[in-house]
Amino acid sequence: MHSIVVRNGTMIDGTGDPGVPMDLAIDGAKIAGLYRQSEAKGTMVIDASGFIVCPGFIDIHSHSDIHLLSNPQAHSKIHQGVTTELVGNCGGSAAPLMGSARTALAVVARELLVDLDWTSMDEYLLRLHNLRTSVNVATLVGSETVRRCVLGDGDIKPDPEQLAHMQRLVADAILQGAFGISSGLIYAPGCYASTEELVALASTSASLGGIYASHIRGEGSTLVKAVAEAITIGREAHTRVEISHHKACGTSNWGKVNETIRMIEAARSEGIDVAFDVYPYTASSTALDTILPPWAREGGKEKTLERLADGVTRDRIIKELQTKSDSWEAIAAETDWDSIVLVDFKTPENKKFENRSVLDISRELGKRPVDAALDIIVQESMQVSGIFHEINEDDVVTVIQNPLSSIGSDGCAETPYGPGCESATHPRAYGTFPRVLRHYVLEKKALSLEDAIRKMTSWPAERIGLRDRGVLAKGMAADVVVIDPKEVRDVATFDNPHRFPEGVKYVIVNGAVTIENGKHTKERAGQVIRHKAAIA
Ligand SMILES: [Zn+2]
Repeated sequence: MHSIVVRNGTMIDGTGDPGVPMDLAIDGAKIAGLYRQSEAKGTMVIDASGFIVCPGFIDIHSHSDIHLLSNPQAHSKIHQGVTTELVGNCGGSAAPLMGSARTALAVVARELLVDLDWTSMDEYLLRLHNLRTSVNVATLVGSETVRRCVLGDGDIKPDPEQLAHMQRLVADAILQGAFGISSGLIYAPGCYASTEELVALASTSASLGGIYASHIRGEGSTLVKAVAEAITIGREAHTRVEISHHKACGTSNWGKVNETIRMIEAARSEGIDVAFDVYPYTASSTALDTILPPWAREGGKEKTLERLADGVTRDRIIKELQTKSDSWEAIAAETDWDSIVLVDFKTPENKKFENRSVLDISRELGKRPVDAALDIIVQESMQVSGIFHEINEDDVVTVIQNPLSSIGSDGCAETPYGPGCESATHPRAYGTFPRVLRHYVLEKKALSLEDAIRKMTSWPAERIGLRDRGVLAKGMAADVVVIDPKEVRDVATFDNPHRFPEGVKYVIVNGAVTIENGKHTKERAGQVIRHKAAIA
């Protein structure tokens, strides 16, 4: 007698092979076997007639690091069929936490009612393990986090001793379980890292078997240069490279993904293992202060706010915002202020601006849009985000269709119930995986169902280095999703983001049924997955 038998479904095993009618048996936390028309008996039997049975989705680009401690049931992810999240992306991880790395996380931790009661990667992963989450979690170590631990928030070049210290922190984190390193080169102080510094840190990571995942230095006018830098880091550090949320922002850059994908393919034929991930939306989202030039963000929040308060410096910032720049992303120079929508306000006075465009807000305030944006950055003490409608749908199709892309949400495990739910958010936190199936597979026919599922399962598992997840086969972890292809769709929208998708019937995590008939069972059977360097 098996613990669970999933019967009569069409099995899509995650490898990209065509779906076949097959029954799946689970014993404990592992897949016990796959059978054609079996007589296998189970304590629980799930009738999957008319449904697809596939491996649990692996979200290769997640920012749930702190959210999972506040929302261990991982509502917005598990409802999509996500069973594993890779956190620690875009240069920022939850550990190690020293100096300004701790200060930087304190705001979001306070908001989500999380105590930052750890220092090392080991302690953070233990904290997750003891809490128990509904999804499995793996992490990267952030290069910006490590930089903050050693150098603080300034535009500083590390001396050899400081660089060696940073490399030691990277090695420690990987030896304690991180799967590699990430960078976020539009954020401060991450953006002050030179290519050489990143090569040094990525080399340390690669020597222990880790990957280098990067939110590259620019995704607009500097996109091509930024992809070239990621490839250089791959070549010089002998590391696998994952280019995060690959896209081209701003109308004058649309179409450049064709060129960058050619560059990536050329690098691969040279022997550099580069690939990328993508989310299925034409809007990005990040902190609004990323529109400021890097020099204006140097030294941390207080210094940035001082510059915005000083008339002369503020004028210089505005001037640069209005001029196209080759050295950084002058987003505002090519973005229409109507396409930047502001979300996640913290001050009660500004709550009325939630989910409205900068242009709209500026009209109500009787100010120029650039002044409205800068004033809001100051009033919100930099804790406000923008949703930037700046990506071309044809580019999303190009990136999603390429066999090298994985699907990653770039979102957090959010909840419509707890802290943070009154703020708007990017719908990707709730809709990414069902949206790929509904919009890009079933409606646009840009991908086959088997290809799409491969991009959500075995391919990201291979990129990260997860050995026993991402494929339905005997002995693999029993992370399984049962989907109704007639019903599956994302329901979260930009106007109404906190909504669960439809058609995701069952989600099984390590053999525990966590979504049953579309409802959360409150199971928390997720595991903290540590890199093999830690286990050895
Ligand atoms: Zn990013």
